[in-house]
Amino acid sequence: MSRIAFVKDAQNAGSYVSRDRAYVSIEDRGFLFSDGVYEVCEVRDGGLVDEERHLDRYVSSLKALKLVSPMPIRSLQLVLRETIRRNHVRNGVLYFQVTRGAARRDHAFPDPQVQPTLTVFVTPVNTAIRDARAAAGVEVKTLPDERWARRDIKSTSLLPNVLAKQAARESGVYEAWLVDKAGFVTEGSSTNAWIVTNGGTIVTRPLSEDILPGISRSIILDAARSLQLEVEERVFTVSEAKTAAEAFLSSSSAVLFPVVGIDGAAVGNGKAGPVTLRLRAFSRGISQVSGVQLPSI
Ligand code: PLP
Repeated sequence: MSRIAFVKDAQNAGSYVSRDRAYVSIEDRGFLFSDGVYEVCEVRDGGLVDEERHLDRYVSSLKALKLVSPMPIRSLQLVLRETIRRNHVRNGVLYFQVTRGAARRDHAFPDPQVQPTLTVFVTPVNTAIRDARAAAGVEVKTLPDERWARRDIKSTSLLPNVLAKQAARESGVYEAWLVDKAGFVTEGSSTNAWIVTNGGTIVTRPLSEDILPGISRSIILDAARSLQLEVEERVFTVSEAKTAAEAFLSSSSAVLFPVVGIDGAAVGNGKAGPVTLRLRAFSRGISQVSGVQLPSI
């Protein structure tokens, strides 16, 4: 049972507290304005997966929103490891979030600056369910992309993503693939989107302000290149995806799931494709797992 969170804010110099007593102020700007950034990292065998890439993206997100880290990165790394250790989580996801802190409600930044709020918690993952999804694949539905224009920032403002995921779930599918005004897939509500063409080329949208620079996306690209597979970072339409040989999605919590259906139409033969499965296995192999501290129970 995972029950310890870390909180640091204006009221609290930084402590590990029971998760059901981990409070922040009702004036916290994360709560009032979604004025914050976050990261989600996979925890594998008690270690953090691709920690360095996550921390680099965290620093970029902070910079983009003119936020300051509530503690030096080295100290943050210790807190992340300690949160995993105290919760005895072996396989799961670690979440951390930084907001601009609590201040009298005003859209403009507090002046003078206030103490940013840091919260950290970790949740175990049922690896049997994840592995079953990875073997069987998932289905997606397409929806218009209604998000803001800076999707490259990992901001906690996720309302359109929430609504898209909910619409997917209400349709009985795993994920929503979001489509821009020109008809090209941007990404999923919480995943990056990929296809494998009939010629075997792996295609994913290039990095820009239109999509989140997924950490698993970067690992999969490294994996594809190591396997000497052909890769194209370019846009693709929904109809190209529907007629592709294979499709898949990626995120730190899913790693990589085959996409076997889009809007009710089977992709390829409707089963997880061989390129997809090979990429999944290889990507997991090349991920860096750091700070491994196997739980004592
Ligand atoms: N795209 C969006 C919108 C996301 O929210 C996420 C993950 O939360 C991703 C892509 C995948 O990113 P990562 O591989 O870093 O988990």
